[in-house]
Amino acid sequence: MEYIGRFAPSPTGPLHFGSLVVALASYLDARKHNGQWLLRIEDLDPPRESHSAPAEIMRQLTAFGLQWDGEALFQSTRLDTYSKNLQLLQNARLLFPCTCKRQPGPYKGACRHKSFSDVAEPYAVRVLTKDQRIQFDDLIYGKQYSFPDQEVGDFVVRRKDGLHAYQLAVIVDDAFQGITHVIRGSDLLDSTPRQILLAQYLALSVPTYGHIPVVLGKDGHKLSKQSHAMPVDTDRPLAVLRQALQTLGQAPQRAATTVSSLLRQATKAWDLARVPRESTYYSA
Ligand code: GLU
Ligand code: ZN
Repeated sequence: MEYIGRFAPSPTGPLHFGSLVVALASYLDARKHNGQWLLRIEDLDPPRESHSAPAEIMRQLTAFGLQWDGEALFQSTRLDTYSKNLQLLQNARLLFPCTCKRQPGPYKGACRHKSFSDVAEPYAVRVLTKDQRIQFDDLIYGKQYSFPDQEVGDFVVRRKDGLHAYQLAVIVDDAFQGITHVIRGSDLLDSTPRQILLAQYLALSVPTYGHIPVVLGKDGHKLSKQSHAMPVDTDRPLAVLRQALQTLGQAPQRAATTVSSLLRQATKAWDLARVPRESTYYSA
């Protein structure tokens, strides 16, 4: 079977150690299966992005030897496609406009009865959820069950500011790029059922998922660009790659003397079953 994997960073800043771990895991899993490894820049949210981030992310990946196949796909070039998919959902009467203020907890359906002709912009667009169980078999966390209607409720597919929501764009593009395997951070584990539900509504293919435990900072929070985690140090690629391999439960390949030989050996030895399910802590 053909394998197509991908790494899909949001260009809000340079890669930090946690995002490098995810990139490395998806790269090694793809290469282990003689698969392709694609790069998709998820530049859907200009206010949160930095103009220099895409080039900087590519420079960092290259410094770590993580060479993607083909050209990177930028989500900002795909807005028409997202709109078309919204139209398909609309044709199936699965969308409604929502003018509610942001509230904690699952959406309770206050605007379900509203129609687009009744409501003036700005509004968010939500997709209906039904009394339906979504299940998938995660490569790391095993069988997952979810009831999106109870856990999140009808969710946003186009934001009040007019931007397309991540959940929609990601599943449309995974299908468009023929992605068969999504290896990504466990912070997205609870987004997966929403993406599978959208794939069902839009008759898109659903990839196999594997979620890598997120790397936590010393404060116990996920390393993230928002928490100003340091960019990964591209001056010491071998040392950083070894640390990332250890985080992933893999041998650090101490004998390797170049980035390319380290990656080759790490690919040969890659064993997804050894990735720990618990989060690990990072200290530089
Ligand atoms: N762009 C998302 C992020 O950087 C990841 C999307 C994905 O891997 O599905 O958090
Ligand atoms: Zn509402």
